[in-house]
Amino acid sequence: MNLSGSCLCGAVTYACSSPAVLSGNCHCLDCKKASGSGYVPVFFVAENAITIRGEVKWYEHAGASGKPVRRGFCPHCGSQMFGKPAAMPKLIGVRAGSLDDPAQYEPQVDIYTSRAPTWDCMDPALPKFAEMPPMQEPVQQGVPKTD
Ligand SMILES: [Zn+2]
Ligand SMILES: [Zn+2]
Repeated sequence: MNLSGSCLCGAVTYACSSPAVLSGNCHCLDCKKASGSGYVPVFFVAENAITIRGEVKWYEHAGASGKPVRRGFCPHCGSQMFGKPAAMPKLIGVRAGSLDDPAQYEPQVDIYTSRAPTWDCMDPALPKFAEMPPMQEPVQQGVPKTD
């Protein structure tokens, strides 16, 4: 089943033509600030496998890696939708809460758990990484070749 979703007002929609290559809950401080929540559930798909409709506004800042991260949101209703870390080229992150069927999201890991406050509940069954996991291999395998 293809992943699809929208912002709260419906002005921004997306549809993915391939499954997520990476899914996890990010507990970093930036995700907390941007979302106003305890963590951000996010899945990554190949950038060329997602069709986004509607106007997305992008905010760029320096991520935890020191490299720029662009965060995309609906300028009308403010819903946080997308993330494009320069550290993960060819991939786009999508906030799982924006899915038409949020049950399609299956988190594989918790990342940046060293930044989680005590009230931030986590699934004890998921692998935990204090910061970023060593994930170059699975990411590279999941990205379709463009040339
Ligand atoms: Zn909207
Ligand atoms: Zn984060």
